[in-house]
Amino acid sequence: MKPVKILEKYIFPQDIYCIACGAIIDESRTYRLCDSCMKKFRWIKGAACKKCGKALGKEKERMALFGGNAAGICHDCRSRRHFFDGGYSCVSYGELEKKPLMKLKYAGDGYIADTLGEIMYDRLLPALAEDEGGCIPFDLIVPVPLHKKRQALRGYNQAALIGRVLAAKLGLPFYANLLRRVKATEKMSRLGASERTENLEGAFAISGRSADIAGKTILLVDDIYTTGNTADAASAVLKSAGAKAVYIITFASGSNFVPVSDE
Ligand SMILES: [Zn+2]
Ligand SMILES: [Zn+2]
Repeated sequence: MKPVKILEKYIFPQDIYCIACGAIIDESRTYRLCDSCMKKFRWIKGAACKKCGKALGKEKERMALFGGNAAGICHDCRSRRHFFDGGYSCVSYGELEKKPLMKLKYAGDGYIADTLGEIMYDRLLPALAEDEGGCIPFDLIVPVPLHKKRQALRGYNQAALIGRVLAAKLGLPFYANLLRRVKATEKMSRLGASERTENLEGAFAISGRSADIAGKTILLVDDIYTTGNTADAASAVLKSAGAKAVYIITFASGSNFVPVSDE
C-alpha cells in the first residue's frame, strides 16, 4: 500500500463505516454493518444445502411439495459429484453482499477479514449444534491459497486472513501454507464452465507436511462459493493426501452467476 493511502486510513479510520454501504456507524453495530445493510443482507439461515452451503430458498419449498430430497441438497450438488463432504455459507451473493469482499480484495481493507471471520463463526456454531450436537468435527483449518504472484500483487490472501480469525475463535490449528497454488490460473470470471474445470487441473498441491493431514477432518475456508470448482480441486488434493473428510466454509455463495472475480 502507498504511504499516502496508509496515512489516509490513519486520519480517516475505515472501521467507523459500514463495511457494505459505507454509511457512518458506531462501534456497537453488529459486524460493522449499518442497520439497513444488516436487514438487507440475505443471510443464509436454516434452509441451506448440506453439501455446499448455498441457500435453498424456493427449492426447499418445491422439495417439500413434491416430497423430494429430504437431505436438503441443492440442484447443483445433486447433479454433480463433489470432492468435499459438506459445507456452510453465510450470505447469498448479490450486489450488496459482494461489497465487503470487494473492499477486502481490491481496496486493501484487510480489517474486513476480522468481521467476515466472526460472521463465519456465528454461522457455524448453530449449524454444528444442529448437526453435530455442538461438537466441532474439524481437526484443522486450511485456506484456499492464491498463486504467489497474485498474492504478491494483493499483499495478502483474503481467505487466509479470514481463516486465521475463524481458527482462533474455534481454537483449531490453522495451516496457512498447507495447500499451495502451483499454477497461475486464469481469472475464472473470464472462462466458461468447461474451461473453468480445465483451468483448475493441477492448480493445487500439498506443501510439505502431508503426514499431518492423514485421517484428519479439514475445514477449508474461502471467501466465495460459485460453481464449486475451486473447492473441488482443493478438496481432491487434500483427500488424495489422506484427509478423512473436507468441509468448506465461505462468506458468500450463489449459483449460476459469474462474480466480478472469484479469485
Ligand atoms: Zn450499510
Ligand atoms: Zn449444494
